[in-house]
Amino acid sequence: MRILNVHAHFDDFELTAGGTFEMWRRALGTELSARVLVCTDGAAGHHSRTREETAWIRLVEQKESAKIGSYDFQLLKLSDGSSFSEGGLLTRPVLASLWKAIRAFEPDYLFCPPLPTDPLMGVHTDHLTIAEAVRRVAYLINVPHAFSDIYPTDETQSVPLKTPVILNVYDGYMFGDNHFDLAVDVEDAFPVIAQCAYCHRSQFQEWIPWIGRHEIKAPTTFDEWSLALRQRMARQRQDMGIGGDRALEFFTVTAWGAIPTLETLEQDFPSLCRSHSQLGALGRKLSRWGVL
Ligand SMILES: [Zn+2]
Repeated sequence: MRILNVHAHFDDFELTAGGTFEMWRRALGTELSARVLVCTDGAAGHHSRTREETAWIRLVEQKESAKIGSYDFQLLKLSDGSSFSEGGLLTRPVLASLWKAIRAFEPDYLFCPPLPTDPLMGVHTDHLTIAEAVRRVAYLINVPHAFSDIYPTDETQSVPLKTPVILNVYDGYMFGDNHFDLAVDVEDAFPVIAQCAYCHRSQFQEWIPWIGRHEIKAPTTFDEWSLALRQRMARQRQDMGIGGDRALEFFTVTAWGAIPTLETLEQDFPSLCRSHSQLGALGRKLSRWGVL
């Protein structure tokens, strides 16, 4: 089982899919290969550090998180070795590097941010760019010569590559425009999510309170951070119309990649919360897509 998280920034993974990855690791152990692909270099996200210093700190923080979460971390690099910067436009070289990174890992499941269905929602340019990038590259994953101008190849005996099932994660920048098919119970993984996320202290202790677009108050200790994370997850659950107090993560199945069956999803996903997942509607959606 190979699972890949593709998102814009350092910390996005922990706040959207970190618990699911942890539950999957516990269920499968060494049978699981988990990778987190961060697509921007993080250099822009600070108010009192240089771009170089910020980018370096973000790398160190993500590597620390990867060690705790036992996942492989990769920073997206363009063909010339440079990084994609925040606020950047979706260019052909960016699509090509994403295409190459997905093909190299060949995931069964790929997690990425969603696109808004309402133009009043979806304010974060980088989240939108990466969501759009995954959608635009999805069909090309199994097209060997799609970007041979950037990654030259003259193969004439291409081996088919697996196209993953692509799911959208919950996105706080969607405000009222989040949806979900699957709810995963990540309560048991909460301590690990909190520890992984706590690695990103240059963000939630320094940057996020400064930018002021979030409700997280700057925590000064791990316990304060855990509480803030609990409150954040409670708001997400509330947004999805779900009561209770267990930690949940939410995913929507797209038709961008392979179309799974409901049975496969139920079998593969660890710790699926059957009472809150919308399995009936999802089953009908997948059956319809499966015959189109
Ligand atoms: Zn982000």
